[in-house]
Amino acid sequence: MIGHTELAKRFGTPAYVYDLDRVRAARRDLLAALPDAMHVFYAAKANPHPEILREMRGRGDRCRAEISSVGELAAALEAGFSGADILYTGPGKTDEELTEALAKGVRLFSVESPGDLRRVGAAAGRLGVVADCLLRVNSVSASATTSIRMTGVPSQFGFDSETLPALREEVTGVPGTNVAGLHFFPLSNAEDEASLIAEFRHTIEKAAELQERLGVRFRFVDIGGGFSAPYAVTGERPVYGGLREALGDALDTHFPGWRDGGPRIACESGRYLVGDSGTLLVGVVNVKESRGRRFVILDGGINTFGGMSGLGRILPVSVQPDEAVPGTGEPAMLVGPLCTPGDVLGRDVALVDPAPGDLLTVPNAGAYGVTASLLMFLGRPAPAEVVVRGPEVVSVSRIEHLRTYVHGQALR
Ligand SMILES: *Cc1c(COP(=O)(O)O)cnc(C)c1O
Repeated sequence: MIGHTELAKRFGTPAYVYDLDRVRAARRDLLAALPDAMHVFYAAKANPHPEILREMRGRGDRCRAEISSVGELAAALEAGFSGADILYTGPGKTDEELTEALAKGVRLFSVESPGDLRRVGAAAGRLGVVADCLLRVNSVSASATTSIRMTGVPSQFGFDSETLPALREEVTGVPGTNVAGLHFFPLSNAEDEASLIAEFRHTIEKAAELQERLGVRFRFVDIGGGFSAPYAVTGERPVYGGLREALGDALDTHFPGWRDGGPRIACESGRYLVGDSGTLLVGVVNVKESRGRRFVILDGGINTFGGMSGLGRILPVSVQPDEAVPGTGEPAMLVGPLCTPGDVLGRDVALVDPAPGDLLTVPNAGAYGVTASLLMFLGRPAPAEVVVRGPEVVSVSRIEHLRTYVHGQALR
């Protein structure tokens, strides 16, 4: 392992370090926690870095890509995924992006409404192909308690489960489409394995009930995710020791042919697969006291690591001076360099004698990092992204922001 101090010296801060060995380990662990006949869609939004996508694809075909834009499409194809490996999701798919995705061989789409379905069908029709569509379901009930709940309330996502059966005629006859099955994504970041299993059981039962009521034989059911990972705090990814059997049992009950691919069953994950591969390195620029509080001012804030704080949540960031024992120092406000009081990475973060020039590390920062941040706000350069595999530096890159004129030109 190359020391963080060494990497920070060579490539500057703020910088992300991603370890591909850890991506590989998470991928292996998740696949091992699932029945062999299931596969996983990696949600590219968690970290669309090309080397990470490539590692995720790996060998074999159990890990595929879930994308939601032409940018992610290009990244997935570049990483070696084929159109056939890709699930295209999202509530605002435009004609242009659908046409591009279909032209690149994507045939599996999650659709959120009758209008969305017709749009996919029209785009497919123009290209003379048929798109397999998964109706995304917004279940009226759900089982687990979790930090991020996605369904059961009015939403831009999915068909309301209670009214979907009445849309049977409307959704099954759309030219250019085939209703291949359902897509659920009821929760993110489940509290523990028991709630994850309870949610999956509920989803599988619901899927079988909807198959019955829609009168369509499903070829594909995506039961969603909820796999959790520590985010910007110390800790380990959970091990899901009972999931494989629990899923197998529930699927045997409700979809007897599933082990032979009728229907094929998939789930999805972002954070579990990449969260612990990443560490964020930030430098201390300044330390000041104000009315009894200590402010530690960093060279990267929500422009670098804004995933959740950008959404109005403050991260419970745990930060450590590089290669030192975690401190029991005085609590400090951890703030970034931006000219907004909202640029806060942590409150009451204990640090021992922080000083300008110190290097701090934020652990478990591999998911929802750079691309989930307010990257352009205040015009600072994007952080370096250092990809390592164990001791070896594989690549160092940085996202560039640049303006291109599509009409008119820069004034001189
Ligand atoms: C964001 C998202 C995911 C990934 O969520 P994680 O909590 O990172 O695993 C999976 N599926 C869908 C549909 C998503 O929108």
